Amino acid sequence: MGYNVAIDGPAGAGKSTIAKLVAKEKGYIYVDTGAMYRALAIHFLKKGVSADDREAVARACEDAEVTIGYEDNIQQVYLNGENVTSMLRTEEVGNMASKTSAIPVVREKLLELQRSLAREKDVIMDGRDIGTNILPDADVKIYLTASVDTRARRRYDELRAKGEECDLDLIARDIKERDERDMTREIAPLKKAEGAILVDSSDMTIQQVVDEICSHCR
Ligand code: C5P
Repeated sequence: MGYNVAIDGPAGAGKSTIAKLVAKEKGYIYVDTGAMYRALAIHFLKKGVSADDREAVARACEDAEVTIGYEDNIQQVYLNGENVTSMLRTEEVGNMASKTSAIPVVREKLLELQRSLAREKDVIMDGRDIGTNILPDADVKIYLTASVDTRARRRYDELRAKGEECDLDLIARDIKERDERDMTREIAPLKKAEGAILVDSSDMTIQQVVDEICSHCR
């Protein structure tokens, strides 16, 4: 078994930024499970499957294979052999992933991939149900959150830095909707795992959050 750090929290809390930095400092492998849900979402979008049609989503899962590789320590996600890493981070894909991740077959499809990575390697794995469901025996569990306003502002700044037009109110609404879906779904809802350390990053710098998490890790 590898040394496992689980980090869960809502969209835009900074999980991936923080987890990547902790991974670098501690020599762990960073596993981004949201990227796996996003890869499946690309598959559903390509096939024109509606997120509301659970049976069609389940059928579409049958011919989707998601695998992970690493290039220069950076996670690459493959969908049926194609590297889709550069296509993962659009709002369309994020919304599709948020909706379809509530469907049991979709979660089952990714569960073993996530657990096997944690068995083999020292990992810091981020997602929504890592501490509660995927790695309940993780060595360290973190619940990383921030206020909706803070998260919306960070996402807005990120998109603007990429030169994309966006609207702060719309982003905030989207984040609230995504929180609602992730926290109220029947299967593997987002919640603080038992024994998880709560870190609210609203008024913390990135380095403060990294230091706080590192202080709990081996
Ligand atoms: O973290 P990220 O925004 O990339 O995740 C995309 C979507 O995938 C989330 O909105 C969430 O609904 C879903 N997800 C999940 N369980 C995980 C990781 C992500 O349900 N472990």
